[in-house]
Amino acid sequence: RSKDEGGGSHFAYEPQMHAHAEERRKLEFALRHSLERDELTLAFQPVVDATTEQIMSFEALLRWNSAEFGPVSPAKFIPIAEDTRLIVPIGEWALRRACEEAARWPSHIRIAVNVSAEQMLDASFASTVVSALASSGLAAERLELEVTESIFLRDGGAAQNTLSQIQSLGCGIALDDFGTGYSSLGYLRNNRFTTIKIDRSFVTGAAKDSPESLAIIRAVVAMADALDMTTTAEGVESERELDRIRQLGCTKIQGFLFGRPMGAMEAQALLARDADRKIA
Ligand code: C2E
Ligand code: MG
Ligand code: MG
Ligand code: MG
Repeated sequence: RSKDEGGGSHFAYEPQMHAHAEERRKLEFALRHSLERDELTLAFQPVVDATTEQIMSFEALLRWNSAEFGPVSPAKFIPIAEDTRLIVPIGEWALRRACEEAARWPSHIRIAVNVSAEQMLDASFASTVVSALASSGLAAERLELEVTESIFLRDGGAAQNTLSQIQSLGCGIALDDFGTGYSSLGYLRNNRFTTIKIDRSFVTGAAKDSPESLAIIRAVVAMADALDMTTTAEGVESERELDRIRQLGCTKIQGFLFGRPMGAMEAQALLARDADRKIA
């Protein structure tokens, strides 16, 4: 564009763009060294049965405490990791660490691990899963991988292939953030998901009596039942949201009301308490 076109905004706008690109470049550089510098950890968030409120599983969530930037939110660093394909080694680390931790838990407790499109489309992903299970000793049935519909956008065939390989190992597959992306019923017809995770925006909507949110959750729950899948409501924060979600018949609940993402030690302590409660 010509110099004149930008008008007065030209000077105000460009330095800001530079600052943004510069910050991102620095974050990317730091992220490249995060693994070797031991700056990554996993947090674990409980998922409970909607009726009994007993812990069914935990979702593993990456945390980055950078020496240079302090704690960086996943909303910021996961997209950078995906753009640079750093998510492939970082995601492998998370998968191995999650399996290793879950192997210490009671055998009815499962672990869910998020997987990005870049990982799913990597030819060696299925063998990485096999290796993570073998070295941790975790039974395949206790591992659930969470994917979003975005995995089908770039190379639907390849993604479907990897999904069926993972399924034949015995692992579960959850469709994450359902309703926010490119929700197509074709994905549900062509792939056997074990769980649909209903995005938090619908949970919030349902508690505010939004007719659209209520109708969509009802329809998703009915479809999941018919297709032999379970449903997890994401981001349940209040008693009101819990009541609504229970009425709508979701199978499982995840959210701050039952537990925030926590460290591995805390998760173990929570499981010990949950077991005591059952005995008592
Ligand atoms: P997600 O997989 O949908 O994970 C759920 C997010 O919702 C988490 O954010 C969690 O802390 C947050 N959350 C849970 N309950 C509540 C609630 O009651 N209220 C609210 N407001 N939020 C709640 P987090 O940990 O910041 O992670 C954000 C996203 O980053 C994840 O969304 C996932 O897409 C991605 N991510 C995190 N860890 C990994 C990983 O190991 N690999 C990959 N590929 N992506 C990851
Ligand atoms: Mg998830
Ligand atoms: Mg989600
Ligand atoms: Mg999400």
